Amino acid sequence: MIFDGLSNKLQDTFKKLRGKGKLTEKDIKEATREIKIALLEADVNFKVVKDFIKKINERAVGVEVLQSLTPGQQVIKIVNDELTSLMGKENTKLEFSKKGITPIMLVGLQGAGKTTTGGKLANLLKEKGKKVLLVACDVYRPAAIKQLQVLGQQISVDVFSLGDKESPVQIAKKAIEHAEHNLYDVVIVDTAGRLHVDEQLMDELYNIKNEIEPVEILLNVDAMTGQDAVTVAESFNEKLDITGIIMTKLDGDTRGGAALSITAVTGKHIKFVGMGEKIADLEPFYPDRMASRILG
Ligand code: GDP
Repeated sequence: MIFDGLSNKLQDTFKKLRGKGKLTEKDIKEATREIKIALLEADVNFKVVKDFIKKINERAVGVEVLQSLTPGQQVIKIVNDELTSLMGKENTKLEFSKKGITPIMLVGLQGAGKTTTGGKLANLLKEKGKKVLLVACDVYRPAAIKQLQVLGQQISVDVFSLGDKESPVQIAKKAIEHAEHNLYDVVIVDTAGRLHVDEQLMDELYNIKNEIEPVEILLNVDAMTGQDAVTVAESFNEKLDITGIIMTKLDGDTRGGAALSITAVTGKHIKFVGMGEKIADLEPFYPDRMASRILG
C-alpha cells in the first residue's frame, strides 16, 4: 500500500522518541535525521524534504517540546501538523460558476487517467444532482472517444462528440453552446494527452482554455510516476495555470513521494485522488487524513 515504507520508518523513529523521558537537542537531531532519510526513500522531492526538516527542527528544538512532559508526543504532533500543511492543509473543494455552466477541463499526459477520471467525476457530480455533459476532445486517439462514450453510457451521462474531423477547440466551443441550449450545469472536457509534455499539446490546451474559460483546470497525474509527476505538474501549471490536481493510481504500489511533494512544488492543491479503476474509485483528498494514515 502507498506510504507503507514511510509509515513503518516513521513509527520506528517515534517509538524511540516515546521511549525516552526528556528529550535533548541531540535526540531531536537524530530523530529528524531519520525522518529526512525516510522521506527521501519515499521519493519526496529533495528541496521539499529540506524545507520540511528545517521547519520540524525549528519547532521541535523549541521550549514547547524540550520542557514538555510528553516531548515525544509533541514531536509527533509537529510532524503531523507539518505533513498536513505540506499536502495543502485542508480538503479543497471544486469551484462552480455562480450562475450558468461550470466548464471543467481535464488535462494530463497520456495514460494519466483523464478519460477514466472524467467518467468518475461526471458520476460524482451527477449523484450530487448536477446535469453533466462529457466532451470528447481527444481527437488523436479514436479509442479515447469510444472509451468516453462507453463510460457515459455506463453512468447515464451524455457525451458530446464531433468525431475526429473537427479541431478540439471547435469541439469544446460547440459543446459549450450545446450545453447552454440544453441547460447542463457542468461540462467536463476530456482533452488529448501525449507521452511527454510538448509545445504543440500545450498550445492546443491553452487555446481550449481561452475559448471556454474553464472554472477548473484539473491536472491528472499518475502517482506511480513519482517525481516525474511533479515535473509534469510544473510544466502544465506554468502554461495553463491549473486550478487543481487529481492524483490517480494512489491504490497502486507507489512510495507516495509525488503526493507529498506536488503541492509544495506547484502551489496547487490535490482535490481528488483516484483509488482504482472503477467508477466509484474517486475520492476527495483530505491532507489531515492522509497525514494520520502515514503516521499510523
Ligand atoms: P488517459 O490517457 O489520461 O485518458 O488515461 P485513461 O483514463 O485511459 O487511463 C489509463 C489507465 O489507467 C486505464 O487502464 C485506467 O483504468 C487506469 N486508471 C485510471 N485511474 C486509475 C486509478 O486511480 N487507479 C488505477 N489502478 N488505475 C487507474
